[in-house]
Amino acid sequence: MPPVLDALEVVTIGDELLLGFTIDTNAAHLARELGADGVRIVRRATCGDDAAAIAEAVRDAVERTGAVITTGGLGPTSDDNTKAAIAALFGRAMYFDETVWQGIVHLWKSRGWPGEVPESNKLQAWIPEGATILHNRHGSAPGIWLEDDQGRWVAMLPGVPREMRGMLADTIRPRLAEKRGARAATVIRSRTIRTTGIGESALHDKLGDARRGLFGLPLAFLPGWEGTDLRLTARGLPASEADATLDRAEAELRARAGDVVYGTGDDDLAAVVLDLLRARGWRAAVAESCTGGMLGMRLTAIAGSSDVMLGGVIAYHNQVKVRDLGVSEADLAAHGAVSEAVVRQMAAGVRARTGAEVGLAVTGIAGPGGGTPDKPVGTVWLAVETPDGARTSLAKLIGDRDEVRRRATQGVLNLLRKALTP
Ligand code: ATP
Ligand code: MG
Repeated sequence: MPPVLDALEVVTIGDELLLGFTIDTNAAHLARELGADGVRIVRRATCGDDAAAIAEAVRDAVERTGAVITTGGLGPTSDDNTKAAIAALFGRAMYFDETVWQGIVHLWKSRGWPGEVPESNKLQAWIPEGATILHNRHGSAPGIWLEDDQGRWVAMLPGVPREMRGMLADTIRPRLAEKRGARAATVIRSRTIRTTGIGESALHDKLGDARRGLFGLPLAFLPGWEGTDLRLTARGLPASEADATLDRAEAELRARAGDVVYGTGDDDLAAVVLDLLRARGWRAAVAESCTGGMLGMRLTAIAGSSDVMLGGVIAYHNQVKVRDLGVSEADLAAHGAVSEAVVRQMAAGVRARTGAEVGLAVTGIAGPGGGTPDKPVGTVWLAVETPDGARTSLAKLIGDRDEVRRRATQGVLNLLRKALTP
């Protein structure tokens, strides 16, 4: 059975991937790029460098889907077994390709490298009989396209991510577009709607029957420390229809989710908040205890933030809360540093001392130590003070120290977003 043309499998090859020392960015890149062309990756496998493992993984994929891209193991070293293993699978012998070899020699000379091309590079010029050689202008090992008489194929790309990406663009995408013909008019497109300040399950309930998808588009819930992203995916539609359906679905999701939505795509909440401040001509300053500067970092990471962001105080020790923010020693003694009274005074203090219209403050217990029965690790008080008044919020955050700090930072940005959104 010939392959269906809009589904394929990926096999990434390399012991380093199995050992976890190299993260498999090639498979992710292939999925995103090919998805944009309407080609779905239906299965991914990773195997080590040995020939038997490669043959087994590729044979399964060829039998199942008949369209396979491999990456890795094309280099000149002895752990690079991909070509020979797959050639054997297709019953092809290997031959030495003089043209490929001359290309490698030419590359060597043109780069001005000293001496002769190492003997081991010759391995790269051994090609399976009947293969199509995929030119690699980003490195020395060519890619290989091997196809059987039923139209089932394997494309072998190098493992080096930069070379793999270049060859995907230069050779694989055009070949697939040609093979798919009229079908190439369809795409896979995703739209991400970003929410924060609501738990995944509460969001799930809030969406009602839309949680299973909208207008035929499946919906994925992707929780993380920034919040829960909702991802809609349109598959197999012409581009304009995919966009129109995504627009309708996004509008419906926004209506149901309400004010927990702060953006789409890779929108950053810090940038959203800066825009809201800029629109009012307000400037901000931060007072941070448990986040130790993370809030300032998030805000200043956005290019052009200097017209809004004035600065702040890392008030980690109580001494600094008192001296530099004017927090009352009596309140610290009576309520503790992690309390509504203190966070309120931190926001007011940094606002007054910098002259900013808006003060943001965070104080909490990031852990792993320092928790008590009534203030366990993850207890964080957040405050914002604007010319319209002050708002505080108590958050009970989950995660390790790093995650609590990130969630706290996101939480205070969200408190300000809500204060600035009518
Ligand atoms: P070369 O001609 O350089 O030997 P190759 O095709 O043999 O290329 P590999 O030796 O398998 O490729 O890998 C080269 C580099 O690319 C290594 O540093 C490896 O960690 C990295 N790499 C390999 N596969 C992947 C992958 N799937 N994702 C990200 N990086 C990868
Ligand atoms: Mg390798």
